Amino acid sequence: MRKTTATAVLVALGYYAGANIGFVLRFPPSTPSFVWPPNAILTAALLLVPPRRWWICLLAAFPVHLAAELQVSWPSSLVLALFVTNCSEALIAAGGVRWLSGAPARFDTLRRMAVFIVAAGLVAPFLSSFLDAAVVTVVHEESYASVWRTRFFSNVLTQLLLVPAIVMCATAGPAWLRGAPRARRAEAALLAAALVLVAGWVFGLVTAGPTILGGPATPVVFLLPIILLAAVRFGPGGTSLCLLGTSFVAIVAAAHGRGPFANLPPAATVLTLQTLLIVLAIPILCLAAVLVEHRHARAMLGERVGALHASEALKSAILGSLNTSVAVLDRDGRIIDVNANWGRVAAERGASLSAGLGVGGSFLETWRQAAGGGMPKADEAAASILGVLRGARQDFAFEYPCHNGAAERWFAMFVVRLDRPEGGAVVACADITARKAAELDLERSRQEITHDMRVFMMGELTASLAHELNQPLTGILTNAGAGLRFLDVAAADVGELQAILSDIVDDGKRAGEVIQRMRDFLRKSQPQRAALDLNVVVQEVVQMLTSDAIIRNVSITVDLDDQPVVVCADRVQLQQVVLNLLLNAIEAMAESTGRERTIVVRARNTEVQTVHVAVEDRGMGVRAGTYDMLFEPFFTTKPTGMGMGLAICRSIIEAHDGVIWAQDNPSGGAAFHFALPAFGAATT
Ligand code: ADP
Repeated sequence: MRKTTATAVLVALGYYAGANIGFVLRFPPSTPSFVWPPNAILTAALLLVPPRRWWICLLAAFPVHLAAELQVSWPSSLVLALFVTNCSEALIAAGGVRWLSGAPARFDTLRRMAVFIVAAGLVAPFLSSFLDAAVVTVVHEESYASVWRTRFFSNVLTQLLLVPAIVMCATAGPAWLRGAPRARRAEAALLAAALVLVAGWVFGLVTAGPTILGGPATPVVFLLPIILLAAVRFGPGGTSLCLLGTSFVAIVAAAHGRGPFANLPPAATVLTLQTLLIVLAIPILCLAAVLVEHRHARAMLGERVGALHASEALKSAILGSLNTSVAVLDRDGRIIDVNANWGRVAAERGASLSAGLGVGGSFLETWRQAAGGGMPKADEAAASILGVLRGARQDFAFEYPCHNGAAERWFAMFVVRLDRPEGGAVVACADITARKAAELDLERSRQEITHDMRVFMMGELTASLAHELNQPLTGILTNAGAGLRFLDVAAADVGELQAILSDIVDDGKRAGEVIQRMRDFLRKSQPQRAALDLNVVVQEVVQMLTSDAIIRNVSITVDLDDQPVVVCADRVQLQQVVLNLLLNAIEAMAESTGRERTIVVRARNTEVQTVHVAVEDRGMGVRAGTYDMLFEPFFTTKPTGMGMGLAICRSIIEAHDGVIWAQDNPSGGAAFHFALPAFGAATT
């Protein structure tokens, strides 16, 4: 509300003062004035306030228009009609500028200034003058053409001189007055004083004034340095104030019949002065706007360059602080920047390669050369880096051993695409030998635990082992006894003896096989993956368990696929998994009474290039709420359990790119499943 009242009061005051100045600067008997400020004041107000508040400005102007114009005792119809034409000019001017310029209250680019000059300075006075001239002609019976011409020129001049000055004073003036340094204020004051003096001299207010080489009176050139200086030093605001000052002095001089216009009739003086000032104002205002625009552009450029420098400095600081070796590549794989650590990597590669690994060298070329130099998969990595550079693939990471000299070192390389128009990538190399050694240690201890678990499980299979060994050994003993008895007989049947000996050999082989299988199972060797039929693995394990199962009154049924269920895996490790699941199943049924004590082991090929093995029991089932923990190390519900069996199963299955899980067996008990990629299936 306060804002509305302030706007209304300011517009009213400005309009009233402007109208009075206009009347003073009229050259009677013609009705239009030399300059007519109310329209320009209204235009400036409309440019400064949002369109939804325009009505306030127009409404505020109405009473003061009546008050001002009734002083000159014109008929009220003319006064009203002139208000309409004044408003129409301001509306066309402000509407046009607002429509075409992104910022109607700014004159800081050539485009905005040009929009203002055309829309507010030329088009609005041009269009509104037709109506104005018509009204004045009807009421005052003046010549239509002369009224139109006088009004048009006076309004063009007022719009060009006054609107930018008012708008700039309202927008930038208060801040300038508050914040301008003393030197700037002094400069402005000096410029104003120089303007008044030179203008007073040029327009003959002080002395008779100059003429140039006796030619026509065009001494305005003497003012140009000052106006141009205002344009350069104070932009469009200073320029328009300077032009306003010049016009003021010129008008006063003309009104007193002094200066270059002294010898002209009043009407010709008015027109000459108006034309002169308009022709002067348009290019100088444009020049001022161009200068500001140029200054802004330079400042923006400076800011951008500064930001670029800052980001470069930041980048160097980041690169320098990294422990990894970092190189920045352009889109062709050429090294354009490296950090301090990069030199170490180059040194690792030996002298021949280090040249290529420096700034300016081709990273890709160096990698290709490295293929023969103890860097496996260098070609593959080069292709991947090229893929990243060409945008074919996203970032990638790569680990590789490097056999330079005696010790093996491991490196990890990360290639990250740079998201910028000129493309390129950042390559970071880290020495991961220590991490690799830790991983190897972990793997070794995992294998040892796995092995220890196998020894532990063997302990649980003593009954089966004893039985399996007992059978052939008993056979050997029986056959050996029989053979000895045969030899006691004088004429021993050689054929019979051969048969006995071959039975002994067979039994010996069987015992040997049992022992061999046991040794294989307990052997401490590196896992070796090969094509393996899970049907066979399941059968072997079930055979190992047969006697224990019989002793514990459990029957094991196998349900195998008709086709071999082939995976690429380590035989002993998968035997361990199946054995562990079967031992758990047998133990789970130890507590159950009354139910059918059957375990079913299934092996199947699936349709999605995986194989599936399930061990289903009819025991008590998995305890509620423990599914998530079953495969965690040391989770056990058994009084003497270790809780390592299923954890080892999971690590073996996951190392083979498979999954293992447990669920309730629909027919009671638990079911443990695992799935592995079928042999030859593509793995990621
Ligand atoms: P442990 O046998 O030493 O307890 P595991 O890791 O082999 O260690 O098994 C962990 C736990 O999983 C067992 O203590 C038991 O609670 C549960 N579990 C394993 N197999 C079965 C099964 N077939 N039925 C019910 N619970 C089972």
